[in-house]
Amino acid sequence: MTKSSVLGYPRIGADREWKKALEAFWSGKLDEDTFHTRLQEIRLNHLRKLHDQGIDLIPVNDFSYYDHILDTAVMFGIVPKRFTYDSGAVPLSVYYGIARGTKDAAASEMTKWFNTNYHYIVPELNDVTPALTENKPLVAYREAKEKLGIEGKPVIVGPLTFLKLSKGYDKSETEAWLERLLPLYTQVLQELAEEGVQWVQIDEPVLVTQLSKDDLQLLQNIYKTFADAVPNLNILLQTYFESVENYSDIITLPVQGIGLDFVQGLSGNLQSIKTNGFPADKILGAGIIDGRGIWKASLQEKLSLLDVLIEQVAPERLIVQSSCSLLHVPVTTERESNLDPALKSSLAFADEKLKEIALLTKACTSRHADILNAIDKADQALLPLKQSQERNRIDVQQAVAALRLQEPSRSLPFAKRHIAQQEKWKLPLFPTTTIGSFPQSAEVRKTRQLWRKSELSNEQYTQFIQEQIDAWIQIQEEIGLDVLVHGEFERTDMVEFFGEKLAGFAFTQYGWVQSYGSRCVKPPIIFGDVAFVQTMTVEETKYAQSKTQRPVKGMLTGPITIMNWSFVRDDIPREHIAYQLAYALRQEVEALEQADIGMIQVDEPAVREGLPLKQNEQADYLAWAVKAFRISTCTVQETTQIHTHMCYCEFHDMIDSIEAMDADVISIETSRSHGELIHSFELNTYKLGIGLGVYDIHSPRIPSVEEMTTMIERALRVLDPKLFWINPDCGLKTRGREETIASLRNMVEATQIAREQH
Ligand code: GLN
Ligand code: ZN
Repeated sequence: MTKSSVLGYPRIGADREWKKALEAFWSGKLDEDTFHTRLQEIRLNHLRKLHDQGIDLIPVNDFSYYDHILDTAVMFGIVPKRFTYDSGAVPLSVYYGIARGTKDAAASEMTKWFNTNYHYIVPELNDVTPALTENKPLVAYREAKEKLGIEGKPVIVGPLTFLKLSKGYDKSETEAWLERLLPLYTQVLQELAEEGVQWVQIDEPVLVTQLSKDDLQLLQNIYKTFADAVPNLNILLQTYFESVENYSDIITLPVQGIGLDFVQGLSGNLQSIKTNGFPADKILGAGIIDGRGIWKASLQEKLSLLDVLIEQVAPERLIVQSSCSLLHVPVTTERESNLDPALKSSLAFADEKLKEIALLTKACTSRHADILNAIDKADQALLPLKQSQERNRIDVQQAVAALRLQEPSRSLPFAKRHIAQQEKWKLPLFPTTTIGSFPQSAEVRKTRQLWRKSELSNEQYTQFIQEQIDAWIQIQEEIGLDVLVHGEFERTDMVEFFGEKLAGFAFTQYGWVQSYGSRCVKPPIIFGDVAFVQTMTVEETKYAQSKTQRPVKGMLTGPITIMNWSFVRDDIPREHIAYQLAYALRQEVEALEQADIGMIQVDEPAVREGLPLKQNEQADYLAWAVKAFRISTCTVQETTQIHTHMCYCEFHDMIDSIEAMDADVISIETSRSHGELIHSFELNTYKLGIGLGVYDIHSPRIPSVEEMTTMIERALRVLDPKLFWINPDCGLKTRGREETIASLRNMVEATQIAREQH
């Protein structure tokens, strides 16, 4: 019989009870025993749910107290030396120390889990001798069995993926490191086998990236070692997020099952399986339900896909499963009471996906009328949204169709615009500016909440915002900045703010997903055609401009960032969604220009995040991302100065694309990229206006004038002084008022020194 499975389930709970428990524990409101009990309740609840929904292979050990990569490191005793730890079980205080830092030791680095918005803790291998501290998968397996009688499927991060995601060792030591880790992995697996475990899922998502010959050899060694050590344990080698790169090598590994992604990796994996077949002695974990998207599947389509797979793999050798862990989607749509019914009936969060998987699994072995009816009924529920007006806006679709055929570009090339802009703006050498937001004090946040709850009238709220703008315009003038901003006091979040004002967006009440640690985000949903409704930023910007003689920069979030930080519809290509957003934003840009705002910044911090995992798809993505930015900004006059801003990531390998965006000025976060960015500018001679952030805004520390002078001098060694701007790394909304003022004063002083020397 075909079996059903999921690769992992969200930890946070329908009401974010996991997050709340963690934070209560950290703040001392929960003692350690109660905390363990609370997390166990959450964990067991999830297992019960998976069981009740008819999932056959129920994952255990996917649950975590923070992050599963950190768990793996800690299980192997990989604790950086700066934390007080000797050997044996790793105490919670050390575990959370690595994740969050202590007063004596900095936290480990955190970075994005492949191309998702989940962040894991990067294991640091330097100077540690690994040793098994606890068989965590075994503990999880026993718990499920003893408490609920559930035969769990332990989930473990595979050795190759673990090593590839770790740092603190030289790549030439990979083999040596494997020799240290493999005995520990083997011991874990042996104990599982002795316990009577039937299946383990070993996650090796690195198999969807490009691997070298050496890597493939290591892979062979790893799984050969396991096969020899635990011949009776069934290993399901699991991949996800894309198609595998080396299909024929992977299917010959000595494991009992292979899990492939037939959603994001659909075309590649299907092609491989059709060309090469699938080994008759192995089980195929067919990831056909999207673990990352929030939409219901067309079950009819999925059934056809399963039929194609069944031509290659007998139904009893098939597992119907999610394409990846359900960690990346919210828990349930059940409690969403504010969504339009057409939208709600098209959404599938984790729990709804369990139902889809269970039903499709049944359909693999029986096409009984009841099952086919259920599938038909599920597909019917998708129609109202598909046929809705919001998804079928002829005006938007025509505009975008026309834009796709054009090459959006400014009326003059940068060199000429630059002269015209210099004449108009008469800015000094090294103009100073900020990235947009100023501190969102408790008062600002509280006032916004009162207004949202209608406890404050629109007039009162507007007046409050204007007072903030007044105060900060005055502060900026007094500090001596050249290009001012209004401060973004009216905005909670740079995506949500625009999503609430554009057509085509919806907001859930409980649609949270884990971003890192206890931090959860609730991305907006782009469900329809995106369209401009009315101006979004003009009032505040115009107001700010009326209070000063200096230029005030308008402030928008760019199309790619809005898209990458939202859940987006999957019935049209992302490229088209980006153009719809770009077209809507263009109308805002034009409205700002009409209102005499002659400098407009369109932020694109998240461009990098959308980069496909497959190298051969990256150029295409970058091309349309750049095009979307240009669509939103190209129609202004040559004297209107377009700015953009990027942060969070390293951009050193995409400078050509950044240049192609053709913004008159870009401000880029520099301090966290450790000079790599400057180095690549050296090789590249960037020809447009540029501000490299001269101080890190992620800490309350006030940078000294000397520090910033060093940064400025270093940048000026490679960049044209006439094109150089001076600004902080990013927006200042999380900083305090006093430290912000002091830092900016120092920045202006450092600028003055630089001006005297050039
Ligand atoms: N303009 C935004 C701000 O200043 C930019 C934020 C960002 O880059 N993440 O907050
Ligand atoms: Zn930023």
